[in-house]
Amino acid sequence: MSGGSSKNTTIQRRGLMLVISSPSGAGKSTIARNLLESDIGLSLSVSVTTRKRRPSEIDGVHYNFISVKEFERLRDTDALLEWAEVHGNYYGTPREPVEAAMAEGRDMLFDIDWQGALQLQEKMRADVVAIFILPPTMTELQSRLHRRAEDTAEVIATRLNNSRAEIEHWREYDYIIVNDDLQHAYESMRSIVSAERLRRDRRPGLFDFVRGLLEETPVIS
Ligand code: 5GP
Repeated sequence: MSGGSSKNTTIQRRGLMLVISSPSGAGKSTIARNLLESDIGLSLSVSVTTRKRRPSEIDGVHYNFISVKEFERLRDTDALLEWAEVHGNYYGTPREPVEAAMAEGRDMLFDIDWQGALQLQEKMRADVVAIFILPPTMTELQSRLHRRAEDTAEVIATRLNNSRAEIEHWREYDYIIVNDDLQHAYESMRSIVSAERLRRDRRPGLFDFVRGLLEETPVIS
């Protein structure tokens, strides 16, 4: 728009905790990756896990892969903001990077299961936006798990069995996206982020902004 003043209208805002959950194979990781690469100012909370690294994964990027002993040490020293056992392995969110991001008003993305989502909602309700991704059909979920081909048949079977239990928790989320089209699902996620960033209660800086607005004396020409 032309004709505006050059005044800086950046308004101070609290950081957003964007939590996404889904059963394995519903496309959550792809959507998360696209969001992180899209330059909308989101950083990923890198979890710790005791699961074995998949060939395509990089230690320190996708997860920090640690031993059970180290996991228990972190958990018992309150270094994890939340943690859960999922498909027989431990996963947890390191506390320190999240608290630093929130203090600076930076937004973070959490790829965690329903147990973790619940814990974050209990602890930090005002900052959490929880999104659940559903597959269009269970058949599609199964074929996506097989196509990924990074897990053994046994692991795939466990994950499929667990997916029904995971889906049962859909009501605990603020938004539900059915991933029948990746691009569409990604755009829905972006819309959610844009709208949530504009929420009045997330923007303490609005008080000063509006006061300034009302004190301004327009020059009538
Ligand atoms: P995967 O082994 O496929 O990477 O992840 C299995 C499940 O664990 C996924 O649903 C994923 O979202 C969840 N998960 C990953 N990191 C965490 C975490 O730090 N905490 C919790 N609660 N769940 C996690």
